[in-house]
Amino acid sequence: MSEEQWCLSRETLRDQCLKLQEFRTKVASWYCSHGRDFPWRHADTSYQRVIGELLLQRTRARVVAGFYLDFLAEYPSWESLSRANEKDLQGLLRNVGLWRRRARSLIDLASAVMDTGGQLPDTRAELEKLPGIGQYMASAVLVLCYGEREPLLDVNMARVLERVFGPRQRADIRYDPYLQDLARSVVQVDNAVEANWAVLDLAAGICTIAHPKCHECPLVCLCSFASQAT
Ligand code: SF4
Repeated sequence: MSEEQWCLSRETLRDQCLKLQEFRTKVASWYCSHGRDFPWRHADTSYQRVIGELLLQRTRARVVAGFYLDFLAEYPSWESLSRANEKDLQGLLRNVGLWRRRARSLIDLASAVMDTGGQLPDTRAELEKLPGIGQYMASAVLVLCYGEREPLLDVNMARVLERVFGPRQRADIRYDPYLQDLARSVVQVDNAVEANWAVLDLAAGICTIAHPKCHECPLVCLCSFASQAT
């Protein structure tokens, strides 16, 4: 690499670092006054937090909010969930997509957790051995239960990051090193849980798929998508 190219890449890196810092600050500030409030965000136990995240898979948050507390009242622990009657659990999940399959996989997961002493493991490798736990849910457990600075990188977070910082390199976000690194960088802050929620709330309320409200967005001055649209 020539000296000129090296200086250019160093400059680009510095600009990206500054942009990242500004992104974190602006989203955190926006979240203080616009963040959503859901019962699983006040959960006391790891079980309650993980159940909230499992129920949110492929399901709108307001739908989950409608039955989350009923779910916990009926199944307050991994132990009770592992012994659930499958038909009864299906009835509780009837408003959720793929409810039959999800009832089965919740029982399978709870049984696996009980087989390993009633605690979720604290490493990605061990978590991903559990039934129904993929890359996203392993990250969710690590950040929500063990305080690790892991991103909740789903299609919604990916949309915000790509619009602000530029497009992914691979079709599947699970295998895209650029998006994975970027998302992990975004949550390298003291409160990684809130940093995740902030981006997800912005994606849900402002940076929507079809009609992003760029005029209301705290990121408008940083955003590649918004600058191209004007
Ligand atoms: S400025 Fe518009 S496109 Fe960019 S992050 Fe905000 S809402 Fe999304």
